Amino acid sequence: QTSPAPDLLSFDKSAEAIRTNSRWMSGGVNSNFRLNISPTPLVFERGEGPYLHDIDGNRLIDYYLGMGPMILGHKPPAIVDAVKAQIDKGILFAGQTAIEAEAARLVCEMVPSAERMRFGSSGSEVDQAALRLARAATGRAKIIKFEGHYHGWFDNVLWSTAPPLDAAGPEEAPMPVAGSKGQLADTAATVVVLPWNNLELLRERLAAGDIAAVIMEAAMCNAGAVHPAPGYLEGVREACTRYGTILVFDEVITGFRLAPGGAQQKFGVTPDLSTFGKAIANGFPVAAIAGRAELMDLFSTGGVVHGGTYNAQPVAMAATAATLKSLTPALYKEIDRTGSALMNGIREIFASAGVTASVAGFPQVFHVALGLEAPAQNYRDLARMNRPAYVALATALLRRGVRVLERGAWFLSSTHDDAVIEETLAAMRGAVQELK
Ligand code: PLP
Repeated sequence: QTSPAPDLLSFDKSAEAIRTNSRWMSGGVNSNFRLNISPTPLVFERGEGPYLHDIDGNRLIDYYLGMGPMILGHKPPAIVDAVKAQIDKGILFAGQTAIEAEAARLVCEMVPSAERMRFGSSGSEVDQAALRLARAATGRAKIIKFEGHYHGWFDNVLWSTAPPLDAAGPEEAPMPVAGSKGQLADTAATVVVLPWNNLELLRERLAAGDIAAVIMEAAMCNAGAVHPAPGYLEGVREACTRYGTILVFDEVITGFRLAPGGAQQKFGVTPDLSTFGKAIANGFPVAAIAGRAELMDLFSTGGVVHGGTYNAQPVAMAATAATLKSLTPALYKEIDRTGSALMNGIREIFASAGVTASVAGFPQVFHVALGLEAPAQNYRDLARMNRPAYVALATALLRRGVRVLERGAWFLSSTHDDAVIEETLAAMRGAVQELK
């Protein structure tokens, strides 16, 4: 490892703070997904628009965007004003407010399948609510999930999210692989893991008639940014209806990001239930479950429990309503333009440097996979990307002032304008030289 050239950024104060803070916080962080980042997990002071400022005094163009939420960029004035106004009225009432009803109405108006909805605080939690509803509605226990799809960190779904290929079993019949030590092994008996984008295998398994729910990201955006194959979502919808299985779209990433009405609107396929988080509130801890009224009303009249002290917390609801009102069709069109320019620019840089890579997905969230000749179709394709090389590239970008996720995802906001894209591409031109 050579030390960086003098004009490259250094992160010594962050590294030191992580060491110091490890005395109080396990690993110096509060999520395992913030550990083991090269060259160090960072400590930030503030964010504005497309930029983050860290404690070393670096200004970084941010493509993490909080792991997806900040579609309006950091500290958007409309959200900050709405939150300040709400805080003046009070923080938590354990009762209902007009602002939560407004936010709920906006969700139901924007999301095609949302006849009724409920708020929660995290994506992990509303995914649990969806599976519980599906089990209550069908009287069945088992669910189908897909290899490489992440639905939160709880025991019953943290299966085969990023399995090592030597433990994952045959491609057409994957083994459920636990994602964590301490995870209840018994929950594997309630999970069937299948390869995504393979309709035949799903149809065959559903035909047994014992599956409560199929849960999936309608576009696979946690592990990569993979489009559904033509006809796949329509076929899944038809098979779930035929076999009495509840179709759940996990739109925690895709919701309010791919389109105002999420992946279901973009692809024109209607799930029974869907879950949201991240971009719904531009950085406030808000999630939602929405769907058919008869299913959602099992919460109020069908004996299905859903709780949470912080559900519909008024300050977070002010952020939600303000965010949803900001998500105009024009905003998505603009990110279509800037995100496409960035994707194409990265492709050109790789091509002229002779780097094999796939840059795939959507302008609002795309994925860069070094070593792949063609866009991935599922997890097994993604698992073949050259991860060590990508971590090196991400580190080289960071030293040039551009912060990207090491797993290959790039999130865009409406504040990433042409000048920001140009600056990013200039950093990429330099970073690619370090790959050789
Ligand atoms: N579902 C998907 C598709 C996600 O990407 C995530 C988080 O990254 C979750 C669920 C869990 O959401 P949270 O981290 O808010 O619990």
